[in-house]
Amino acid sequence: MIDSINTLREYLSEKRKIVITSHRNPDGDALGSSLALMHYLQAKGHEVTVVLPSEYPDNFDWLHDVQSCVIYDVDKEAAKQHIEAAGLFFFLDFNSYDRIDPLKKFIEPNPAPKVMIDHHLHPDDIVDFSFCRTDASSTCELIYDFIDAFGEADTMDVKVADMIYVGVITDTGSFSYSTSAALYKKIGHLKDLGIDDYDLHDKIYNRMAIKNLQLLGHCLNNRMELYPEFKAGLIYLTKEDYKTYDIQRGDTEGIISYVMMLKDVKIAAFIREQPTLTKISLRSKGDISVQEIAKNHFNGGGHKNASGGMVYKKLDDAIAYFKRVLPRYTEKIKE
Ligand code: 5GP
Ligand code: MN
Repeated sequence: MIDSINTLREYLSEKRKIVITSHRNPDGDALGSSLALMHYLQAKGHEVTVVLPSEYPDNFDWLHDVQSCVIYDVDKEAAKQHIEAAGLFFFLDFNSYDRIDPLKKFIEPNPAPKVMIDHHLHPDDIVDFSFCRTDASSTCELIYDFIDAFGEADTMDVKVADMIYVGVITDTGSFSYSTSAALYKKIGHLKDLGIDDYDLHDKIYNRMAIKNLQLLGHCLNNRMELYPEFKAGLIYLTKEDYKTYDIQRGDTEGIISYVMMLKDVKIAAFIREQPTLTKISLRSKGDISVQEIAKNHFNGGGHKNASGGMVYKKLDDAIAYFKRVLPRYTEKIKE
């Protein structure tokens, strides 16, 4: 029974077949944490595979060995085989089965121990051992803590350090939020270990195609609505926009943050029309919890100031729905 870091350490004293999984539409933290843990455990001699429900954005194709990830949407049989053969699971950067939906039916019946490393609010009770802290900046920060708990932070391979750095950067908006003195110390340590932070930033942020900048211009010029009475704003994208701007996975990342740059905006939404449903991303400043909005109205969740979800509604109805529920959450806003 794995119910502590010590029993896990003992379990890992034998070579294991390990599957690491993370959420659908993986972001920098999901990928960074999965690959960091993969490299760390592989170096200990385990057979480790990262199995993801859906593909990662092309702009992350430079992450160390990201091509080795098995993607369920691309190769269902391989994903199933790895999961069935696994003797240990790590769930990274998510805390409920609905975030890895198609994998649940293969993972849940496998009696192998399951470990969750995550920083989202309200985890489901689905694992044997949980290494979770909602005040952590990122799952990548928790991977650092996890390796530190094994007494191996000082001997961490630079590949592991690089991948940890990626998730910290992407989940804190380059150290804009969710930071702590402890986090900066850990990052200082990663720098001592040899990460090239300049190069990592360059790879994360300066790889845009022209169409991405044009899409941003389109969003700001034609798709932004502001509601000053609620200190709120939103950007939406239609199905046609997806075609016109050839929007691919990852291309809309970060657009919502432009609404948040407005001095008087405290809540922002980014609402996208998908083939069968409408996706929403939510951000807030200070005391307003968008996690509650995501959970109560959009079948989602996340963090207090950054959450997401979806509704089975057409775009116009989803926008109207958001505007209808918004006032309930803006009462707390102080002048
Ligand atoms: P983003 O808006 O960048 O996609 O996601 C922001 C945060 O909300 C992330 O922490 C992410 O895990 C969470 N999130 C986004 N979409 C969903 C969703 O559909 N369900 C849940 N539970 N969380 C989501
Ligand atoms: Mn995260």
